[in-house]
Amino acid sequence: MTGGVTAARTILTRLHEVMASRSNAQAKLNTTVEVIAECLDSEVCSIYLLREAMLELYATHGLAQEAVHVTRMALGEGLVGTIGGEVATLNLAEAAAHPDFSYRPETGEEKFHSFAGVPIVRRERAVGVLCVQHVEPRRYEEVEIEALQTVAMVLAEMITNAGLVDEEDGFGAAAAQTGPLPVKGLTLVKGLASGHAVYHQPRITIEHTMAEDVEAERQRVYLAFDKMRAQIDRMAREVEFGVGGEHEEVLETYKMFAYDEGWARRINEAIDSGLTAEAAIERVQQRTRMRMRQIDDALLADRMHDLEDLSNRLLRTVSGQLGTAASKGLRADSILIARNLGPAELLEYDKRRLKGVILEDGSLTAHVVIVARAMGIPVLGRVRGLRGLIHEGDHVLLDGDQASAIVRPAAAMIEAFEARFAKSRERQAAYAALRDVEPCTRDGHRITVMMNAGLREDMTNLALTGADGVGLFRTEFQFLVSATLPSRERQTRLYREVLDVAGNRPVVFRTVDIGGDKQLPYLRHDDGPAEENPAMGWRALRVALERDGLLKVQARALLEAAAGRTLHVMFPMVAEPWEFDAARAMFDSQLAFLKQRRKMVPEVIRYGAMLEVPALAEMLDVMLPRLQFLSIGTNDLTQFLFAADRANPKLAERYDWLSPAILRFLARVVGAVARARTQGHSVDLGVCGEMGGRQVEALALLGLGIRRLSITPAAVGPIKALISKIDLGEIEAAMAGWLATPPDDLRSELVAWAHARHIAFD
Ligand code: PEP
Ligand code: MG
Repeated sequence: MTGGVTAARTILTRLHEVMASRSNAQAKLNTTVEVIAECLDSEVCSIYLLREAMLELYATHGLAQEAVHVTRMALGEGLVGTIGGEVATLNLAEAAAHPDFSYRPETGEEKFHSFAGVPIVRRERAVGVLCVQHVEPRRYEEVEIEALQTVAMVLAEMITNAGLVDEEDGFGAAAAQTGPLPVKGLTLVKGLASGHAVYHQPRITIEHTMAEDVEAERQRVYLAFDKMRAQIDRMAREVEFGVGGEHEEVLETYKMFAYDEGWARRINEAIDSGLTAEAAIERVQQRTRMRMRQIDDALLADRMHDLEDLSNRLLRTVSGQLGTAASKGLRADSILIARNLGPAELLEYDKRRLKGVILEDGSLTAHVVIVARAMGIPVLGRVRGLRGLIHEGDHVLLDGDQASAIVRPAAAMIEAFEARFAKSRERQAAYAALRDVEPCTRDGHRITVMMNAGLREDMTNLALTGADGVGLFRTEFQFLVSATLPSRERQTRLYREVLDVAGNRPVVFRTVDIGGDKQLPYLRHDDGPAEENPAMGWRALRVALERDGLLKVQARALLEAAAGRTLHVMFPMVAEPWEFDAARAMFDSQLAFLKQRRKMVPEVIRYGAMLEVPALAEMLDVMLPRLQFLSIGTNDLTQFLFAADRANPKLAERYDWLSPAILRFLARVVGAVARARTQGHSVDLGVCGEMGGRQVEALALLGLGIRRLSITPAAVGPIKALISKIDLGEIEAAMAGWLATPPDDLRSELVAWAHARHIAFD
């Protein structure tokens, strides 16, 4: 690139004067083409700019001057249009031999054979094209192309500052340059949304491209590299970044890029050619992007995204534009775009403005998805190459029901979508009308349908859905949204408010389940190495029992908040009965303490455990007599049964909740609970994992003998509707048959069974 550096530097030095001059934009462009033509010893140099979605010849040295402002090309038309449309470079010895060549007689270009052009890029879109032509049929040297690309960066700044190209829509994106694009993914949360794309980590806008002081720019990049490397190293050391094996791989790649001398050198060379640190980083990134576009390899494309992420991180560091879109405030109707998110990150967004989320990764039971589901926000996940497809500000129709989205939709698509949207709202209204209808099966069995919650705001859903109570209150959500460990007073206040809203309806408070993919930055275990498998690591009750201060404070808060009422307490991740005993003992001692001080205590306390570690299922004969209720956490249970990380996107679609292995396991638990009942130990059994909120899965659970579900609020209506249509005796008999002789595809059998009875699923 060294030759390119010199050529670019010479041009930029001269352009510096041109830009600083007081002449108008057109005059500056005229001088620019002269300078470039002279420095590259080129017979033609032309600049086309995007105006009203057409590339218009704005300035030329070498072509007929009459063609200026006359020759116009649509995106995709001719060589110039191809460069603009594909944001790609062309370098041709014989222009006319290219299939896209389109002859424009007014330019007088017939005598020129060779042609090279580069896009002038602003926010990943072409806002113009810079090209050179020669009589002699020869391909341009790599160094000349490099120089053109560098100059194009500077031109991008100049022409946007001068307002020469299509106005931006105020949301950061140029008017749509490419047509509608359908994308496919995996539905993580159902629902429809229409809005504008907002990147969780916004791209940086580069204000200045030409360096005043090359040495100072070098220093800035040097410091930014240092900072970024330290960040990556820290992430690698910290557990919280990893929510699955894949993230470790990503981190390894990040590290490799962060320390890649080649990358740093290319950025430095770009600075040498006269660019600012920001422009140099972007310049190198543009070049990589263009090269990668020519290689059709999924693995490489993934790595490209990693580099893109890192490049953005470097840009943010060097420009001091830190923070996510949440810290900047969302505009109304936003569709958030991210590779992946943590639950706490999602909770930072204004729920009223956030309409949908599209993730490149994601899995059904990752906590961020559970949070989105609770917020009623549709999520599409597993969209490959997402960040190359959607631009900030693009209009997006997210169809969480059909696992797809349309980016930059055409008017007819919007219309069709709106019609479906209206239908879906009608359906929602029909479900809402079931609010006061008791969930009873056709053969008269009352099913308990409760909802899951985690924040104070979620409680409004109780009245909206008519749920029988809160079967799982994830207390750790308060910890996740706090910057510091919530004090006992704050915890007590929340629990009291929750109970107040619930009134007579029960609320099952689950003690903190932190760890796994719910890491708290302020609560780390510094002793010992980083966890390789956080989901199976130091989490939930394991943390609470070791940091007994945590459980003690929470026990006091819960006991005080429920004074004079019924308190339901549930412990997560119980693997062995003694863990339940130890946690229960903590509550007993706090209760004794309060009584000793003559404080008011709960009238009744009911204790329960979550069954999410398979080992506990083998101990139910010992465990059940100690419990009042048992709640099956199918999210964790199934990840452990299948040894498949619930947050690992690669495994998101691999195993089905309706596999005979899972259903047989659950049937055994139902059997153990029934046996205990005959022995005088009556224990309420329910399911509180995401499985229960899906109609086909819920049908299976009812068939297994589950009579109590705690599900995401949005599912309460659809599940109530389902319950009213089924005959429990029938589905139980069918399920017994399937479990005895499992069919190849139990899901299809269930769906066919339902269809034969005119039971439709959403
Ligand atoms: C579960 O594991 O099924 C569950 C309900 O708990 P969480 O999703 O919070 O881990
Ligand atoms: Mg769990």
